[in-house]
Amino acid sequence: MVEGAAHEGGRRGAGVNALLQAASLDSSSRRSALFPHATDAEWNDWRWQMRHSVRDGEALAKVLLLTDEERAGCEQTKSIFRLGISPYYLSLIDPAHPFCPVRMQAIPARAEARVSEGELVDPLGEDKHRPVEAIVHKYPDRVLFLALDTCSVYCRHCTRRRITKGGEAELGKSAMTEGLAYIRAHSEVRDVLISGGDPLLLSDERLEELLKALRAVPHVEIIRIGSRIPVCLPMRVTDALGQMLRTYAPLYVVTHFNHPKEVTADARAACERLVDHGVPVENQAVLMRRVNSSARIIKELNHRCLQMRVRPYYLHQMDVAQGCEHLRTPIAEGIRIVEALRGHTSGLAVPHLAVDLPGGGGKVTLQPEYVLERKETQTIFRNYRGESYVYPEPEETDCSCPYDAVWTSAR
Ligand code: SF4
Repeated sequence: MVEGAAHEGGRRGAGVNALLQAASLDSSSRRSALFPHATDAEWNDWRWQMRHSVRDGEALAKVLLLTDEERAGCEQTKSIFRLGISPYYLSLIDPAHPFCPVRMQAIPARAEARVSEGELVDPLGEDKHRPVEAIVHKYPDRVLFLALDTCSVYCRHCTRRRITKGGEAELGKSAMTEGLAYIRAHSEVRDVLISGGDPLLLSDERLEELLKALRAVPHVEIIRIGSRIPVCLPMRVTDALGQMLRTYAPLYVVTHFNHPKEVTADARAACERLVDHGVPVENQAVLMRRVNSSARIIKELNHRCLQMRVRPYYLHQMDVAQGCEHLRTPIAEGIRIVEALRGHTSGLAVPHLAVDLPGGGGKVTLQPEYVLERKETQTIFRNYRGESYVYPEPEETDCSCPYDAVWTSAR
């Protein structure tokens, strides 16, 4: 057992499952220990994975020695939020360490059943901008299209748990028609983010039906799909899916890796398959206390993302969703992490640190303060090494662009 787990001995409760204790941390060995009868064809079939997902505490306790905290978490969050872990994601869990980052994202802790001050059911204030069931229209030129309420893994930090806790299911025909009609009627919508739930759990046919209808709307310039499938169910990303998505370009997949442990060979193959088919992939990580709240971890995560051609885009401060307080980091910690990245690694590996303001204020980004002094003639900065540099201000300050009148009138 690793050091931290020994320290947590009291939390883990009595009894030790010798088989699991001895199991290697290597995910293929874990796969053999957990699902010894699964053939490669079954394991690589996403529908088999979904059929064999672990869906409650009792089933989980049969394959993993749960800590007292986790056992209580499974029991006390039963009626609050779904539990579901794909066999693939389960195989990434370190059976011997309660602070395994995959484990902490997949298994509820007792603290999740507690609602802390300031936490909200709808932390991003989306429901007040939901003109029809499938649409959230909060920002001027883009909408969120809620396609379904199911996921391959129910992340313990899920912001949209009011939807993914169940009850909405796959978008019905009428909700989809209504959502599309809304977008057609709103010519200001140039960007549609399909989310849920995880839209890549739709069959290729259902997803294509939606994409085809969106692509037929002249003012929809880009389509984005928010999905944790490359992280939690990478076998869903088939060549057929990649080819189909490419048909509806410009289309971006926005995924959600939070820790380098999630960047496996399978995850990498899934991301590369998308990129090879011409589908750009961006990553939005969420900062979580004791899961990835370290500059070293975030740097390694971003480097690994870039190696598989996934661009680190946002590093999110955790939203104030109910039951997530134990995973939230102080704002200052995120700024400290960005400061440890900027200048110390490629700019491509430095995501925007974003806070989605509670109640629906929208995103704001934060960064360390590099300006030491602002004067009319110069601005004085400190750089990433703490050295001071002077930037001389220009004499001319008229920043209007005369050609813009020509450019815009020609279109
Ligand atoms: S995959 Fe996304 S929507 Fe689903 S539980 Fe995780 S964070 Fe929530």
